Amino acid sequence: MSDIITLSVGGGGREFQKFLKNVILNKLGNEMLNLLGDSSYFSMQGDLAFTTDSFVVEPEFFNGGDIGKLAVYGTCNDLAVSGAVPMYLSLSFIISEGYSINKLEKIIESIKEATEEVGAKIICGDTKVIPYNEKGQIFINTSGIGKVLKKLNDYSSIKKGDRVIFTSDIGRHGISVMMAREGIESNLESDCCSLYGVMKELDYSKIHFARDATRGGVAAVLNEIASMSGLGFEIEEDKIFIKDTVRYYCEFFGYDPLHIANEGVAVLIVDKDYADEALELIRSNKYGQNANVVGSVIEKNKVILNTSIGGKRYVEMPLGEILPRIC
Ligand code: MG
Repeated sequence: MSDIITLSVGGGGREFQKFLKNVILNKLGNEMLNLLGDSSYFSMQGDLAFTTDSFVVEPEFFNGGDIGKLAVYGTCNDLAVSGAVPMYLSLSFIISEGYSINKLEKIIESIKEATEEVGAKIICGDTKVIPYNEKGQIFINTSGIGKVLKKLNDYSSIKKGDRVIFTSDIGRHGISVMMAREGIESNLESDCCSLYGVMKELDYSKIHFARDATRGGVAAVLNEIASMSGLGFEIEEDKIFIKDTVRYYCEFFGYDPLHIANEGVAVLIVDKDYADEALELIRSNKYGQNANVVGSVIEKNKVILNTSIGGKRYVEMPLGEILPRIC
């Protein structure tokens, strides 16, 4: 087989069959995918959650992750914060002709590791090849189906006095990708991780709402929830963990860390009597060590930040996209 992706890989003929066997099924095969049906069959009882996302991050490799990990975690995290157990995924590649098979294999290895960690299975997929371009591009779409334990995206469950938890420090994904794009060497790693591992330790009956804080950061999530629920938030700046590298980078370039994208941070709204216990459980997970209770739900329909120097300010929805192609 050639060491680059050729147009014939996307052609469905002999080259495609070789690619499918040697590159895809070799790593990602399972009893359902290996049947190579037009569809995969499965049955499930109860409520299901279904979501989809496309991944176009540039560059496709960055400190702490790559587009493969993002494609699995991104979709599985949406299922996890919806209150579902991630079960089945579709996986579609769009790759430009000339893309390195070696790089693709690294991405597929990441996909394998991430799906094994989450416990989800890839049961259908597709590969298309587009004509050569100088950048050498790869795009991935994943859709995911999960079994719902409790619907955690119900705005009417949110009550005044509920506590707000961020499950990790914020801003690492956005700043890591910015640094990778600028070629800046750093130890800072993206927070890209499985939130299902964090969520599954918790008592869902005491979680009133959950959302992962991806594009637009925690500021976008809090404003979205405020606008849909008619309630608001009072958040303590001192309680939000931010790594020094993220803080310095944001100060230097004039970004608000609350607006920076994350790929492994959930905003949880929990019963006020459960907040301390939830925090302890989240911190016992390797991805939740920098979790904190950062504030509470208020009646006023605004997101208010009590700043560390004793002031107050409104947190607004970010204007536009700080960094295109972040995920
Ligand atoms: Mg989401």
